[in-house]
Amino acid sequence: MIAYPPQEVVPSSGAVPRGRRWVFTQPTWLFALVAVVGICTVHVLYPDGFVGNFTYLSVTCGAAVVAWVGARRQSQRWQFAWGCVALGITCSAVGDAVYYVRGLIDGALLNVSIADGFWLAAYVALAIGFSSLVVGGHGVRRFDVDGLIDIASFIVMAMVVVTQFGVVRDVIGDSSYSLSTRAIWTAYPIFDAALLGVVAQAMLGRRLHGLSGLFLGCGTGLWLVADFTSLLFDDPAIHRWLDLAWMLGAAGLAMSTVPTDDLGRATHGTVAIARVTNGRIFITLVPLLVPGLIEIWQFGKHNDVNPLPLFAATLALVLLAFARSTRLLKARNRQEAALQRSTRFYSALAENSADAVIVINEAGLILNDAPNLATMMGRQGVPTIGMDALALLQPRDVVSARRVLARWWLTSGVVAADAELQATHLDGSERWFGVRSANLSSDPAIGGMVINLRNITDQKRAETALTHSGFHDSVTGLANRALFHDRLEHALDRTARSGLGVAVVYLDLDGFKMVNDSRGHEAGDQVLREMAVRLTSAVRTLDTVSRIGGDEFAILIEESARVLDEAETVAERVLQSLTAPFIVGVQQIVLSASIGIAIGDVSCTASSMMRDADVAMYKAKTAGKSQWALYEPAMRRAALDRIELESDLHHAVDQHQLRLVYQPIIELRSDRIVGFEALLRWDHPTRGVISPDDFIAIAESTGTIVPIGRWVLEEACRSAASWKRAFPATKLTMAVNLSARQLAAPDLVGDVANALVRSGFPAVKLILEMTESVLVKDADTASHRLQDLRSLGVRVAIDDFGTGYSSLSYLRQFPIDILKIDKSFTDTIVDRTQIPPIVHGLLELARTLHMHTVAEGIEFEVQRDSLRDQGCEFGQGFLFAKPLELDDVVKLLARREIPTAAPVGL
Ligand code: C2E
Ligand code: MG
Ligand code: MG
Repeated sequence: MIAYPPQEVVPSSGAVPRGRRWVFTQPTWLFALVAVVGICTVHVLYPDGFVGNFTYLSVTCGAAVVAWVGARRQSQRWQFAWGCVALGITCSAVGDAVYYVRGLIDGALLNVSIADGFWLAAYVALAIGFSSLVVGGHGVRRFDVDGLIDIASFIVMAMVVVTQFGVVRDVIGDSSYSLSTRAIWTAYPIFDAALLGVVAQAMLGRRLHGLSGLFLGCGTGLWLVADFTSLLFDDPAIHRWLDLAWMLGAAGLAMSTVPTDDLGRATHGTVAIARVTNGRIFITLVPLLVPGLIEIWQFGKHNDVNPLPLFAATLALVLLAFARSTRLLKARNRQEAALQRSTRFYSALAENSADAVIVINEAGLILNDAPNLATMMGRQGVPTIGMDALALLQPRDVVSARRVLARWWLTSGVVAADAELQATHLDGSERWFGVRSANLSSDPAIGGMVINLRNITDQKRAETALTHSGFHDSVTGLANRALFHDRLEHALDRTARSGLGVAVVYLDLDGFKMVNDSRGHEAGDQVLREMAVRLTSAVRTLDTVSRIGGDEFAILIEESARVLDEAETVAERVLQSLTAPFIVGVQQIVLSASIGIAIGDVSCTASSMMRDADVAMYKAKTAGKSQWALYEPAMRRAALDRIELESDLHHAVDQHQLRLVYQPIIELRSDRIVGFEALLRWDHPTRGVISPDDFIAIAESTGTIVPIGRWVLEEACRSAASWKRAFPATKLTMAVNLSARQLAAPDLVGDVANALVRSGFPAVKLILEMTESVLVKDADTASHRLQDLRSLGVRVAIDDFGTGYSSLSYLRQFPIDILKIDKSFTDTIVDRTQIPPIVHGLLELARTLHMHTVAEGIEFEVQRDSLRDQGCEFGQGFLFAKPLELDDVVKLLARREIPTAAPVGL
């Protein structure tokens, strides 16, 4: 860089490849390396003359060209910085060339020349370039006071050195030199020191790194070493080595500008926050040693040193070091304040966040205070430091949590994992936490497992409620059909493995619909809830009780060695539990249940078992209710029949398939016909005549009994009225059977009135028959309905009396005119002299209640005679006549002696 006198220089040819597209490939690198090494070797061997100058200039000028090519290939951001570096190399090369040309022109080399201007400009350009690289490229310039102080220290240090030693001291101290010469000689060490300051700062601050940083450091280092050596020693023997250093320095600097993968990337050091590092403290303090070292050196050489410049330098260095230290201290304070701020920031975040963050060690102890966690667990104010995290969990979760933690700990590095854990609040309630963990034990700042706990209790409760409502009945809280089905499927699976039995006990409440219709749904719900309680207490805890829908319940009996016995026992217990009435408000409701039992085997599915149990239940219902039936395959056929009948029955009235037959009612005393009972027949198109016992229940359950009953009323009244017209002297009664469903229907009174009005049949001669069970099921409605009917003038008979509840207290509530003693009692009469006590009792009861009596099913004379003897007024049965077709009735009436006045009672 700096010339040492005297020297011959030759301009270089500058044969370096040009062009923006020029790429530094590996062979190019190799070529450049070989060329530089070759030229340098030649220069060392022949440092003087044309060869020496040519080799020297070819490397420095070549370096300038390479530097420009490299700089222009840098990205926009870094082009200014690298452009300055290229400019610096170029200035130096131009200086060399000018020096060589001046030497050719003037013959003798001057101590200083215009070349020095270029060389000094090279320092400035390089310093600007390096500073730009250090602070982040073009446009991101920063005023680095610390850097300037460091550079100032280096300059002072350089000044001390050069004013105390070598050529430079001699030139500066020699007044025979011109002022400009001495100024230029003074400028060199200052500029060198400044450049050294910038590079040292960049190196120690680790802002220049990578291969490019290495080139830059080495190149500048070689230049500076050569410069200082030339300033201090004027020994011609070392000139060739100084040249070599400048040449290699220029080559190194040029290579640093090349943005190859190896070079470009790492060069651009990031602008770090000014950290107080040992390197920076070293740079600050090391210049203070220099004046002392110089004094020791001079003392060793027995030189007398002027202490004033050294003291002045020391003072300047102390002031600079003080300024630098003060700034370092401030920087440290700023860092501490920033640290405190960020600590406060993060602790405020942690405290005010909805989540709790804890750090635990391998022993499971919490290492930090997490007020949020304490609050979540109902332990406000209790520090969590040192607490065993697992102690917060539900005892049943501890083992699994320990296992999960152990797995997390095993994984080194950071592991993020999600889990859900249950813990116990201080008040005993449960808390659910969504847990996210990260194993940061390898991070010395954390040293444990960071666990983030989010309170998800509400979410969990909502989930549980949703799941529960999806599988449970909202009225009774029992399992619903879906859950029952699921459990049944699992039970069947287990049965296949264990060989233990499964049974479904399916039950339907008899007459529940009437409760709902007459007392409202709230009363119905109360009954269902009470029913759920009774059912649950009738089974083992292992068994599932479920409400399948409406008034149907199912019980799953599983894992039983004697499943049939078990199922029968449960069915009996359920029937037994229903003997007590349901209390709804102040009223009592008596309900029964029809129960079907299906026993599972390997061929069963959940659906087939449910269907079988339903079929058996239906069987129990049609067989008289309040009983249970075990499924048999034949029942399925019956069930299918029933389904067919159900649909056929819908059209029976419209298609005129129904007809009435009439059975005479006889006054026992006189054997005269006093009336008829209308009995329904269904002429089924394929099945023939179907008796009411086989279809009335179906009509009841489907509701078709209402229109059918209306038709029966109309038809019976019309027939009776026609007989009355044909035989005006007769005072015949007409008895019509009513079912429970009809009695419950509010239209009944209107229907009866219509039938009477349309037919012209007197109301007083119409008798409505109904069974006791119809009355007691919904006593209130029945009572009101009977009052209304009676107000029309019709009379009421209890049919099949003695087979139902036969409760005196019940009967008294109702306005009843006639008791019809069931055929089963008539059947017990076999001897005229020995009337069975029960028949006697029934007749007595009727007398006490002032009711008339009709004995049903009289087939034998002994029965007729015996009943007549006991005071039974009327009778009906095959002994007198079977139910007759309409025409036969007319014939009979025409033939027989007809009473002109109605007998007493009917
Ligand atoms: P119920 O009202 O008790 O009718 C008497 C039943 O006993 C009739 O059967 C009748 O044929 C039968 N019977 C009468 N005397 C004798 C006898 O000496 N020996 C025998 N073995 N049986 C006798 P039916 O017609 O099959 O009716 C059965 C039941 O169907 C009736 O019993 C009644 O409860 C019901 N029913 C009939 N017609 C209707 C109707 O129009 N509406 C409603 N809701 N039910 C009806
Ligand atoms: Mg009857
Ligand atoms: Mg009867």
